[in-house]
Amino acid sequence: MTNKTIRLSDALYDYLLSVSSREPEVLRHLRAETASYPEATMQIAPEQGQFMTFLVRLLGVKKAIEIGVFTGYSSLCVALGLPPDGQLIACDVNPQWTSVAERYWRQAGIAGKIDLRLAPAVETLQQLLAGGAAGTFDYAFIDADKESYIDYYELSLLLLRPGGLILVDNVLWGGRVADPGAQDQATEAIRRFNLHLKEDARVDLSMIPVADGLTLARKR
Ligand code: SAM
Ligand code: CA
Repeated sequence: MTNKTIRLSDALYDYLLSVSSREPEVLRHLRAETASYPEATMQIAPEQGQFMTFLVRLLGVKKAIEIGVFTGYSSLCVALGLPPDGQLIACDVNPQWTSVAERYWRQAGIAGKIDLRLAPAVETLQQLLAGGAAGTFDYAFIDADKESYIDYYELSLLLLRPGGLILVDNVLWGGRVADPGAQDQATEAIRRFNLHLKEDARVDLSMIPVADGLTLARKR
């Protein structure tokens, strides 16, 4: 037994999945296709995706935003948890990767819930705010370029209603955040981001060591 977060050996991780994973076939296929791409490790972990679907249902999310789509695994997890009249605005800049995402959204029958915006996400978020969407979103997932995390967070916070949830991916960054020798831009950006949230009185905060580290921030 331990009163610290348990370290997951490969065997223990396989066990966790074997007794809890309910990954739908369409997500399994998307994961298999993405595994053949050199950028495959950008995809979220399956247990994280299941957790995100769970949260979307738990909170009764109707209006969501995602920043960083790639081949669509996390967006599909969110869309599967939305009600039929729910909406996900999905932000990315890469038409090749998101065309894979669109194919799987159609296969899963939820393409109608997702509005893909191919533009730098800061522009999309600013456009939404300019269009009067402040305070109207229930949920945001941040998973694009790490150097812009603070901007994505600040803009998402404006878009969120009180009680809404922001999820932020890769906050433990393969352990590099705790390695003083790691001083590359992305690692420094994630450290800055984590400190930015530590004392932010506008949110309730929880950092979960699932996959590569996931921060949950609930707007007060
Ligand atoms: N959430 C995805 C999943 O579950 O597979 C993984 C997202 S991947 C880590 C990051 C994505 O952010 C890439 O698809 C990349 O094209 C996108 N991206 C990078 N810079 C961006 C920007 N300025 N605006 C919007 N998207 C951006
Ligand atoms: Ca990620």
